Amino acid sequence: MKANPQESQSLVLIVDDEPFIRMILRNFLEREAYQIVEARNGIEALTMYNKVHPDIVLLDAIMPDMDGFECCTQLQILDCSKHIPVLMITGLEDEESVDRAFEVGAMDYITKPIHWPVLRQRVKRLIQQSQLQQKLEAVNLELQRLVTIDGLTEVANRRGFEEYFYQEWQRMKREQQPLSLILCDVDFFKSYNDTYGHRVGDRCLIKIAQAIKDIVKRPGDLVARYGGEEFAVILPNTDTQGATYVAEKICDAVRKLAIPHQNSQVSRHVTISAGFTTVIPQLNSDLEEMFAAADRALYQAKKAGRDRFVHIILATQK
Ligand code: GH3
Ligand code: MG
Ligand code: MG
Repeated sequence: MKANPQESQSLVLIVDDEPFIRMILRNFLEREAYQIVEARNGIEALTMYNKVHPDIVLLDAIMPDMDGFECCTQLQILDCSKHIPVLMITGLEDEESVDRAFEVGAMDYITKPIHWPVLRQRVKRLIQQSQLQQKLEAVNLELQRLVTIDGLTEVANRRGFEEYFYQEWQRMKREQQPLSLILCDVDFFKSYNDTYGHRVGDRCLIKIAQAIKDIVKRPGDLVARYGGEEFAVILPNTDTQGATYVAEKICDAVRKLAIPHQNSQVSRHVTISAGFTTVIPQLNSDLEEMFAAADRALYQAKKAGRDRFVHIILATQK
């Protein structure tokens, strides 16, 4: 039975110091429709591995210069070798070699003289397993991304916000750099929904999220929707002056969207209020305190008439 078409395109790296063994392995596997590359020793194998990224490595255990065990260890260290299976080929059937092969990270082993049907099945199975593993990892990565993204606006959600806020707080504490947090809340949004309906309300939130994202440009910055019509912006390595600039730009960008809001008490269009604070995190300060300060600033912006931003300087930062 031949390998199926998907596996047929798989690339096998054969590592053996004996030309004859390489040749018979090549002939056999080519008949199984695999593509083949060869290396004569461990060092050559590592170079080849980095160059061609094979789907499986058939690795002779005993070779001069760098043997199969050492080579396998090195392969595990290489970043890209995560799930690329190594099938160790050992001439020795002693227990110690078998144990060593698994210890250094080989997925399986076969012994010389090679039993061809066994080799065929092992190669096929190992490649299948590794492809499955890679697919699972990709799906997992996507899932991880999705659990931190807000489905409506596609900015980070509350969970994404909390994780990133904690991470950057710790980083800024280590680096003794300023961290700014801006909290934004749409003005009179309940009456917007009441006037135009929930669907239009949703579309309005999408536009606002996009407008904020367009302002916040540095790779380290994060925009999140942390509540219904509430957005947060995390600005690492950003001082009061920088955050003032961003907060002003955000309020202005929302104004410029010019989304009609006939029942707003402060404008004919949708507006937001924002509050922010900037801190250089200290050993004895905590991030809840920072969040609360930004929230108080937001409350003050609301009280002072909305459609504006206010910032609070924490006593510990004065
Ligand atoms: P303020 O200016 O004081 O912020 O007034 P407000 O009406 O915006 O504040 P309030 O907190 O009373 O109302 C928030 C409203 O936001 C309630 C709800 O109708 C709306 N809202 C929250 N989440 C969503 C959402 O996902 N979609 C839509 N369309 N509306 C939402
Ligand atoms: Mg609110
Ligand atoms: Mg509101």
